[in-house]
Amino acid sequence: MAKTQALPHTLPNPHALSPEELATALAGNLEKGLSAQEIEARLKQWGENQVDKQQQESLLVVLLHQFTGPITFLLLAAMGLSFLFQEWLDGSAILLVILLNGFIGFFMEYNARQSMEALREMAMVPAKVLRGGRLEEISSEHIVPGDVLFLEAGDMISADARLFHTMQLEVNESALTGESLPIPKKIEVLPDSQPLAERVNMVFKGSFVTKGNGHALVTGTGMNTELGQIANLVQSAQQSATPLEKKLESFSHKLIKITIFLCVLVFGAGLLQHRPWMESLTTAIALAVAAIPEGLTIVATLALAQGMLRMARHQVIVKKLSAVETLGSTNVICTDKTGTLTKNEIEVNRIVVAGAEAQIRPNPLKGEIIFLSDPQHLQEKESYKQLLLCAVLCNTARYEIINQQEKEVGDPVETGLLKFALAAGLHLEQVKTQYPKLAEESFNSETKVMGTLHRNGDQAVIYAKGALEELLQRCTHQLTNGQPQALTPQDREEWQKKEEQIANEGLKVLAFAYKDTQETKNILLEELVFLGIAGLLDPPREDVKQALAECASAGIDVKMITGDHPATARNIAEQVGITKGQQALVIHGSNMPAYDQLSEQQKKEWLESAVFARVSPRQKLDLVTLLQANQMVVGMTGDGVNDAPALKKADIGIAMGIRGTQVAQEVADMILQDDSFPSIVLAIKQGRIIFDNIRKFVIFLLSCNLSELFLVTMVSLLAFDFQLVPIQILFINLITDVLPALALGVSPGNPTVMKHKPRHLEEPILKNAHWISLVVYAAVISACVIGAVSFGHWVVYDQSDWDLNYSNNILFFTLILCQLWHVFNMGSTKVAFYRNEVFTNKYVWLALLLCVGILALVLLVPTLAKALRLSSFDKEMAAVILGFSLLSFFLNLALRKLKIIY
Ligand code: ATP
Repeated sequence: MAKTQALPHTLPNPHALSPEELATALAGNLEKGLSAQEIEARLKQWGENQVDKQQQESLLVVLLHQFTGPITFLLLAAMGLSFLFQEWLDGSAILLVILLNGFIGFFMEYNARQSMEALREMAMVPAKVLRGGRLEEISSEHIVPGDVLFLEAGDMISADARLFHTMQLEVNESALTGESLPIPKKIEVLPDSQPLAERVNMVFKGSFVTKGNGHALVTGTGMNTELGQIANLVQSAQQSATPLEKKLESFSHKLIKITIFLCVLVFGAGLLQHRPWMESLTTAIALAVAAIPEGLTIVATLALAQGMLRMARHQVIVKKLSAVETLGSTNVICTDKTGTLTKNEIEVNRIVVAGAEAQIRPNPLKGEIIFLSDPQHLQEKESYKQLLLCAVLCNTARYEIINQQEKEVGDPVETGLLKFALAAGLHLEQVKTQYPKLAEESFNSETKVMGTLHRNGDQAVIYAKGALEELLQRCTHQLTNGQPQALTPQDREEWQKKEEQIANEGLKVLAFAYKDTQETKNILLEELVFLGIAGLLDPPREDVKQALAECASAGIDVKMITGDHPATARNIAEQVGITKGQQALVIHGSNMPAYDQLSEQQKKEWLESAVFARVSPRQKLDLVTLLQANQMVVGMTGDGVNDAPALKKADIGIAMGIRGTQVAQEVADMILQDDSFPSIVLAIKQGRIIFDNIRKFVIFLLSCNLSELFLVTMVSLLAFDFQLVPIQILFINLITDVLPALALGVSPGNPTVMKHKPRHLEEPILKNAHWISLVVYAAVISACVIGAVSFGHWVVYDQSDWDLNYSNNILFFTLILCQLWHVFNMGSTKVAFYRNEVFTNKYVWLALLLCVGILALVLLVPTLAKALRLSSFDKEMAAVILGFSLLSFFLNLALRKLKIIY
């Protein structure tokens, strides 16, 4: 074997070499793939299979970036002025504030970035490779040149590779060439000069398999792929700002303007009152710094990213930050049935062939079938024997029992059939070797049938399975008493009745057919001989009922969209509680005209109906279009390649992690790793909570900032003889803006979050009612602070003892405590305040504890106390401060309880 180290990075023209020549050149093995040691060495030599991520800013740049905003410039100006006037302590304190501000910003941005990176890794596409003779699923980053890829319909192609075995393989290469039609692939050697778009014996990274399957030898990974060469096609690792972040951004800009106006006012008033101009200017600057909510966007990003990580822990991968926001507004979920509402643990429960029927329970581990009715009769039938062969051969799944442990790979419908065949005594591998597969027409949800062609001695045989009405159309005969007999219209009707009867019990119905043929290359699913039907049991998931009840109370409509028979769909819908009673309208795909041909009546029916059966992916797309035209925010699930357009069109495209194809996962906004419906509801709930939390900290931050603005402006305009000094304003801002706000961002959500209608997608972060509340909160806080100073001055202390510093101290501490207690006003009023989600949030308490700790520190360390102009502090003063700060909290709480404010 050639030495790996001597290999070139890519081969000049792999399409012009035969697979064997290429395998030799790449020291690969077409049958067994690479060995473990070989892979190590190649990974070292070529690196991971990653197209270089978009250049991320280095951490140093992120850190420096924190010191470039208008806030820093304002602070630098204040610091400069302080130093100029030889106020060394003030100047140094401001410098400290600048540094702290910068580091806090850096920490938040770094944290958000880490979360996004973790999520990006979770959404990574796996790949199937042949290694050491076994088919393995690995992370696509670990593919190396010389690996053998196995590709099947729905797979994203993760590396450039030369095909050497294909079965009706078709690939969509639009990402690379712009051509949206699938390209049939071949394995023949092509001329050297063949242009890229016509290299049909190659597959390229970034494209995906639409049909069939194949094996290919990897010729290029990472940047050595065609995709890697085209830098502008590289998927961006960074996300553009979400609508929410944009809203916050423009919102901050507006606030900056208002703040600047007020600061100018404070400065002007100071000058008019003949206060020193330097003091007035630094006060105005400090106020501007305190009032400008510069952290809003980054705290929002952090809340979104952290929320996404929380969802990931619950098996939901949300791929875009913006999706979290949309989730909270989702008002209709279109869900498929199999695996999402049902367990997808499929068991053959009924077999019907011409002249015999039995209810069964297969036990593959014991290799026996328990016949619950009519055993012998069925087992004697030739059609039953053929049906068993069909179940094994017309099947792409794998099922093995190793040491009494079941191992299954593939579609549960198909593994269910393999279990049935194994229980019936068939040796799966032997059957497959006896009838080698020559060609395959894979199952797809448009045609609803699949077929395979097998060698049978010196002849061939076709086996087919699929939805009854589709398969019957392709049958001319049925196997009766071992002989194909012409299917009469009456037979067809009987079969349909039988299907209806079985489907009414909630079973999925699958029909089987076969045909002997001379043709050994192409597969034509026509003039088949009908064998019989199987009823497959797939019980609903236990937790679905509860999730549906939650949707109902949250004002979210649920529609079941399935490829299955209407009777099966109706039965399952009823079992889980989507519909009630047999009267519920079930819309059949055959009665669903194209969107532009829909009558008004039909539109109305589509909007009202909760169950859609025998639906094709195109019809799913039409349904999304109709719902969106009616102002609905739609979450749509999907798993197949053909579902991609509907997933893209939906406001939230939801792909299945287990069942879903990689293509569906690629285009979706969200991936359910456990495929289950309750996870969608959980994600919606989280989406609502995150939005609520963002709203909470925006209200909290703004009301705190506004109270500072009010106070300083009021004191300034009314020409009181006390005022907050700049450094105090900066300190208050640093303490209250950061910790409690961050803690609010991770609130667990209020208990009523799924008890109200979805938020309108266009709804602003703050509605008018919130603005009014904000102003009232700030006014109450300011009034209580002034009240505290006045009470201290006129009631508590003797006028002769009164020191101006007292006013300042009371002002400072009361304001801080008012703001800290104010955090509890952000919780729900539906429960007592001590039981709401903020009061019970341990992070809020942690934040408060830290804040109080910092306060104690500045009081106890003389230099800090001096810098902050803090002087003596006695019991009376503490009582006034505590009393008035609590008063402000309870006053605001009372106003909320009385529903005067939000
Ligand atoms: P859902 O859309 O809720 O997931 P589904 O998975 O049953 O429902 P499809 O996969 O589109 O929907 O299947 C539609 C019909 O096709 C089924 O009723 C069944 O008769 C048939 N069918 C399902 N799986 C296979 C398969 N692997 N091979 C052949 N026919 C199948």
